[in-house]
Amino acid sequence: MHAPAFDFDAVVRDMPEARVGRGLNYAEKGWASLVECSPQGVLAHVLGERGIAFVVEVSAPDASDARCTCEDFADTGLRCKHVVATVKTVLDADDETLKDADERLPRLLDMLEMEERDDAFALVERARRDPVLLRELEGEAAADA
Ligand SMILES: [Zn+2]
Repeated sequence: MHAPAFDFDAVVRDMPEARVGRGLNYAEKGWASLVECSPQGVLAHVLGERGIAFVVEVSAPDASDARCTCEDFADTGLRCKHVVATVKTVLDADDETLKDADERLPRLLDMLEMEERDDAFALVERARRDPVLLRELEGEAAADA
């Protein structure tokens, strides 16, 4: 597998059922967009109800080390629906999709360098943790292609 060996039951253990349900719903809608994915960990941008995307990072099989930029997580430090959506999206994806996700930032860097942008590397670094910027850059790159 090109991703951490997530154990879904362990991830959602002790989590309110409604939160798990919302996370699964987000995954089903395709709201968790994988930005980096390897056995060492996953970074995803997960869209929320108000169209704001949050940044989720997780690597432990039970997601005990998960971090999310949403208010819920900031308030409680507990695994939120965005973490559930991320884990579920990874578990549902085939290996090729996961590999493709992991090539996403290198691909963007290549495209920016082809455009001879001096700040390509810094931009990609910023876009890792900035869902709006990542979408913008990928949109530009796609439009230029
Ligand atoms: Zn969250």
